[in-house]
Amino acid sequence: MTRTLGSALLASLVVWQFPAAGSASSGRGAGGQQLVERQAYLMGTSVRLVAYDARREAGLNRLEGALRALEDTEQELSTWRADSDISVLNRTPVGTPWRASARLCRMFTDVLEWQQASGGAFDPAVGVLVGVWNIHEGGRIPSPSEVAFALGHAGSRWLDFDPLACTLTRRTEVTIDVGAFGKGEALDRAAVVLGDGAWMIDLGGQVSVNGRLPDGQSWTVEIADPVDRQRAVATLQLQSGSLSTSGGSERDMRVEGRRVGHILDPRTGLPASFNGSVSVWHQSGLVADMLSTALYVMGPDQGVRWATAQGVEAAFLIPDNGGVRIVGTPAFTRRLQPARAATAGAATFRESNEPE
Ligand code: FAD
Ligand code: MG
Repeated sequence: MTRTLGSALLASLVVWQFPAAGSASSGRGAGGQQLVERQAYLMGTSVRLVAYDARREAGLNRLEGALRALEDTEQELSTWRADSDISVLNRTPVGTPWRASARLCRMFTDVLEWQQASGGAFDPAVGVLVGVWNIHEGGRIPSPSEVAFALGHAGSRWLDFDPLACTLTRRTEVTIDVGAFGKGEALDRAAVVLGDGAWMIDLGGQVSVNGRLPDGQSWTVEIADPVDRQRAVATLQLQSGSLSTSGGSERDMRVEGRRVGHILDPRTGLPASFNGSVSVWHQSGLVADMLSTALYVMGPDQGVRWATAQGVEAAFLIPDNGGVRIVGTPAFTRRLQPARAATAGAATFRESNEPE
């Protein structure tokens, strides 16, 4: 069944709509609740934290605690930092077990489970492939033999993980890249700090929320355009969980006139061919982050079937003659409403497991 939204362009990355006091650090919400806000820069992107609290001081302290959780996660995971736990793992000699902390052990248990479940479409052990395409520094076009070499040193099959001993042992020069799951992990840790009450964190476009606003409304999240991220096409109302969107519009590169996507298919060693975006809602930020990348690699046909079978709420935004088609799992597309911005082009939703 196709539900036409009327005139609206579709969108892929997330922009926020909520009665915010701009970038001021506090404002007053309904019922005397204080709106507090904190902005910062980390993980190569910006972060915005917002909460309502009865007392301004208490609210700001909660946001500081959540920001520290994000920063601590960056320190543990960032492969941009030579002294992070993951950078140390990536340098541990082949065959030598590296002992993970308890919380990294829990994280790797989840990450490797979803690597398996996604059939390798998401794989944390893509560091050598990401390197040979130079994804983090502007992109390059590798030779077929370089891709073949990188494929031989990428993939979780080269990692022995012992969840009881909490050790990971590299069986070749495989390396971990945290780009597709680190933000989600950080959001989940910050969520524990913020606990109950109304709060929202927007970390580089992946957002986590909790609770209702003081006037009883949910958090309204707009989903933006796969081609022009300034345009919104759909909104959804959230009271918990995390919304992650993977899309090419912001991070794909052009090298020698060719688009080099920043999301790679670990099974072929090549950039994923899909050229739209995919949004995933999940109670866990870590899972939402991993699965938006996995589904992007799978593409709409396989992706909607897989997500439906897994009970994952997801939607693909597919550029289509100036408008965009949204094809998603029924549970997710039912959540979507037309965005307020009236724009050219029609947006159509297909509430179906079977894309056209
Ligand atoms: P997603 O689609 O969620 O992930 C794409 C990223 O995952 C790619 O950029 C690549 O790194 C990796 N990837 C690609 N294909 C796959 C695949 N099939 N399976 C698994 N992984 C894949 N950027 C900076 O410029 N400077 C920094 O200092 C910096 N520090 C960071 C620290 C941390 C802890 C993290 C998590 C990221 C950091 N980044 C940094 C990276 C930047 O934030 C990424 O560009 C971002 O993580 C991409 O996330 P996304 O949600 O936009 O893309
Ligand atoms: Mg992501």
